[in-house]
Amino acid sequence: MEVINTISQIRKTIKEQEKKGKSIGFVPTMGALHQGHISLINRAREENDLVVCSIFVNPTQFDNPEDLKKYPRTLETDCTLLEAAGCDYVFAPTAEEMYPTLPKLSIDFGNLEHVMEGKFRNGHFSGVGTVVAKLFHIVNPDRAYFGLKDLQQVAVLRRLVNDLSFDLDLIPCPIVREKDGLAMSSRNRRLSDDARKIAPQVHIALQKAKELLIQGKSSTEVKTIIEEHLHSFPELKAEYFEISDFDNLEPIPAMNNEGQTAICTAIYLDGVRLIDNIVF
Ligand code: AMP
Repeated sequence: MEVINTISQIRKTIKEQEKKGKSIGFVPTMGALHQGHISLINRAREENDLVVCSIFVNPTQFDNPEDLKKYPRTLETDCTLLEAAGCDYVFAPTAEEMYPTLPKLSIDFGNLEHVMEGKFRNGHFSGVGTVVAKLFHIVNPDRAYFGLKDLQQVAVLRRLVNDLSFDLDLIPCPIVREKDGLAMSSRNRRLSDDARKIAPQVHIALQKAKELLIQGKSSTEVKTIIEEHLHSFPELKAEYFEISDFDNLEPIPAMNNEGQTAICTAIYLDGVRLIDNIVF
């Protein structure tokens, strides 16, 4: 496995491989890797000749400087995990390499900007859209793999790929969870031992909401019940808990009988922002 830090070097390497007819699977990450990320590498490994993983904590998608500062950075252990998983190239640029000057471009994803994550993280998806577009131009993959853990990100990037005609397949991959149901996340390592014990309540609340919707309760009723349930854990502070249409992520009054329903939440615990969702 080769670790590459510059745009010119990764471009040169990939062009050489493309000339040999090799297909490229790409997994963009912000590092601090866990088995959720590795599941994307494994899928990319199965479906492509070569696997490229990028590790870049993208400053332009953080609206909270403290969160950016605290974001875990563990390049050495990440590389050990990636090598064991059969990754071929790691692209790990510095912020200066990616942004010699700060981008002026801002991408507006329409209604997707105004719901859930978009509502609470100003400019987040514009930052995600810009960095992923840059990475797609640099790596030129045949397939790019993203986790459904970040459901809204998948929706935004699907728009990016369609609207800008990127010549690649965007492959959404299932959420990988700890044994107790907590969705794996780089942020989990910031939880105290006590908070870690409470953290599975996020997934439990989503499952409970799903059951209630299936029983025929309205979204408003379900939200009230879940709010009450979460009140028994004062450490959990829900930022949002939304019941939405899976395709357009607009709120829906009850379970979607035509298409799929997505229940998405962001909950603060111990100063850590946990996001999770369930689709059915
Ligand atoms: P991040 O490093 O958090 O930006 O995540 C990089 C990619 O890994 C994104 O496509 C995430 O959705 C995906 N990912 C993160 N956590 C998980 C998980 N628990 N299961 C599946 N995919 C994940």
